[in-house]
Amino acid sequence: MHDSDELDDILNEIRNRQNPHTEDAPPKPEPPQTVDMPLFDQADAPTPAPKDLPENPTLPTEAAEETPAAPAMPEATPTADGREDVYTNVFSGTEETRAEATYTPPTRPLGDDEYPEEEMKKIILTGDRPTGKLHVGHYVGSLKRRVELQNSGEYDDIYIMIADAQALTDNADNPEKVRKNISEVALDYLSCGLDPEKSNLFVQSYVSELTELTFYYSNLVTVSRLKRNPTVKSEIQMRGFNASIPVGFFTYPISQAADITAFKATTVPVGEDQLPMLEQAREIVRSFNTTYDEVLVEPKALLPENEICSRLPGTDGKAKMSKSLGNCIYLSDEPEDIRKKIMSMYTDPDHIRIEDPGKLEGNTVFTYLDAFCKPEYFPEFLPDYQNLDELKAHYTRGGLGDVKVKKFLNKVLQAELAPIRARRKEWEQRIPDVLDILREGSKVAEAKAAETLNDVKASMRINYFDSDQSDM
Ligand code: ATP
Ligand code: MG
Repeated sequence: MHDSDELDDILNEIRNRQNPHTEDAPPKPEPPQTVDMPLFDQADAPTPAPKDLPENPTLPTEAAEETPAAPAMPEATPTADGREDVYTNVFSGTEETRAEATYTPPTRPLGDDEYPEEEMKKIILTGDRPTGKLHVGHYVGSLKRRVELQNSGEYDDIYIMIADAQALTDNADNPEKVRKNISEVALDYLSCGLDPEKSNLFVQSYVSELTELTFYYSNLVTVSRLKRNPTVKSEIQMRGFNASIPVGFFTYPISQAADITAFKATTVPVGEDQLPMLEQAREIVRSFNTTYDEVLVEPKALLPENEICSRLPGTDGKAKMSKSLGNCIYLSDEPEDIRKKIMSMYTDPDHIRIEDPGKLEGNTVFTYLDAFCKPEYFPEFLPDYQNLDELKAHYTRGGLGDVKVKKFLNKVLQAELAPIRARRKEWEQRIPDVLDILREGSKVAEAKAAETLNDVKASMRINYFDSDQSDM
């Protein structure tokens, strides 16, 4: 969970990256990073090398990570007189300061109106970790939108991935959990309206090309860049990894970049927690395309229009609703489970008597009403009020009890979830069909990822046996 300051930082960072520095305005040095948690034990901490000179200057360095996409650092060696910050470029023989030697301006990302729309296919890639059944946070944060996008007919290809390999990065000791949840997540997809005729549903580990891409991309990302990822930081804290962070988990933003770019996705519909991943993917694309031939496509995140839906809190009111936190209302919950969870939900602790004025801020019941309530639910379930604003006004001035609001929310959520649950029960009778859908989808996904991997290898000129060999 990032606090709002941290979120502002991310958004600013994203904005800054979208307006890269020009020559007239040299890049502002980043303010010293405040590390709010130890990501590594001492042995892992980056030791500043004497004169901060990289051992192998062709690799991205801790200093180079100040620039988001600077893998192609000029080769440099210290000058003979050993001046601290001046290096000789081994190619040009000229002297360069360290800043010149390490700073490669990122390529300018294309603006909205600069994409060659007519040529570029519109492709969606998104997915979920099979760590549990999907919950209402997924529904408002991502699933509902996916279904709308799928049915809009505006997209050429839609890939929806069950990210089992990613789920294993923090569940290595429990592959059974991941296995069990493959069909659960697929059932949730189908019950929400994802249609295998229109959207390609697949399993990540069945597309081995994704792993290979991850390996090549990992050379374009520095450790300190990964350490700065606020979502990964908070997830590490949440999972209590302390110093024992699995490398796979730490580097999962790179694997997500592989997932997105393998399908040349232009659009990634996600919740807010995924913004830093998207930014990392965009950096990798820019870095790759400047270092090698330009073959990768820079993706864009598509957040829910309703801000609350970008990060729906859990029923405990504290964190984001998350499978790993056990604070969820699942899409498959039975009506009685939903009712119980709502009736025990967090409201305003100072709203003790009905006549007390109540607070809306941090009041999860109202947050959920903001996310789920439609105008038509008032005449149906709470005709004393015209709309949500009236209900909120009454609560704020006092005289409206929590139980009444909770009962209304219960009716709203039951109405939203009943058709989803009914479709799920039908699909539950057809598990072999569900698995066939995933198997076929994985084949289609693999074919597309293999095409991209070929492009990537050709662009890096590591396609030794399929290309002009005169220089070998
Ligand atoms: P885990 O705890 O295993 O990480 P999760 O509940 O966070 O599970 P993911 O599979 O990581 O779910 O997320 C899948 C997608 O759903 C992502 O796009 C994420 O942004 C979105 N999402 C997850 N939780 C929420 C939430 N509470 N509100 C809005 N969107 C969410
Ligand atoms: Mg998650």
